[in-house]
Amino acid sequence: MSHSALDTADQARLTDWLTRTREEAPQLAPILDSFGAVLAERARLRADLAGQTPPVPPVPAPDKERLLSGVPVLLDADLSGLTPFLGQSAARLLPAMAAAFPALATDMERMAAALAKDAAVLGGGLEALLRGDAGALEQMAQGMEVAEPVLRFALAQIVRPVLECAQQDVAQAVRDAKWLHGRCPCCGSGPDLALYIAGEVEQSEFLKNHGGQRWLRCSLCGMSWRFKRIACPECGTEEPNELEFFTVEGRDHERAHACKKCKRYLVGMDVRELVDVPDLDVAVLAMLPLDILVQDKGYAPVAATPWNTLG
Ligand SMILES: [Zn+2]
Ligand SMILES: [Zn+2]
Repeated sequence: MSHSALDTADQARLTDWLTRTREEAPQLAPILDSFGAVLAERARLRADLAGQTPPVPPVPAPDKERLLSGVPVLLDADLSGLTPFLGQSAARLLPAMAAAFPALATDMERMAAALAKDAAVLGGGLEALLRGDAGALEQMAQGMEVAEPVLRFALAQIVRPVLECAQQDVAQAVRDAKWLHGRCPCCGSGPDLALYIAGEVEQSEFLKNHGGQRWLRCSLCGMSWRFKRIACPECGTEEPNELEFFTVEGRDHERAHACKKCKRYLVGMDVRELVDVPDLDVAVLAMLPLDILVQDKGYAPVAATPWNTLG
């Protein structure tokens, strides 16, 4: 297993893993069905956006100096070229979310009505998400008469496929610049998943890491970057006594790493022994029992997602 584990999934793999996970964990069926429907529409949309003319414009070429000083690529970047594509994404995903989550249907309709009047508001929403500007998001939610967490959820779904298309060249630039932070080098958000992969065969590294590399996947834009194998992505501590991990019986390749210092955790999956690597978006849903177990111990996720904050 190599970097292919980090690739964006295709639609067939998504459907396959939704079905398999549903069979393995019938208690998760309602969550897999509702989030799965949104994931499926996101995957279809991403394929359509990727094959479309004019293409989604790439985000500005990453500046190595900026990356070295710890500034994510998209922060303060001119993203106005993405606005029409965000509009297309909203037109497809708002109805998909309304159908998948009937309780949110009214809010989705209100968002659609607001965007019909002023589509540019989506660009502002993206910038607010990137800056982590809670005040701007609250104001936007009030203007649309929707709850702020609902707006945040919907915006995150809408921007995801567009960013996935726009950031094609960022991953390589990040690898070259050796980004060492626990936040996404592309958009600055926290990770929702760690992946343990075999990586390149490199003797010195093999000895140090037992052949494994840890990659973190961004909760907002989906990009993955390499991170220290033993360190808290939230506060950076490498003190063994501060770090602990949890597993659920029978699912040894999944574990949550928690930090006693900052009380945060991140779920992870070791794909080195797996014959089939799951679709990653389905994999994080399937780890919900692990999320619940760790949250019961008093830990909060590094990145809050709609599924890990259900409780
Ligand atoms: Zn990101
Ligand atoms: Zn920590």
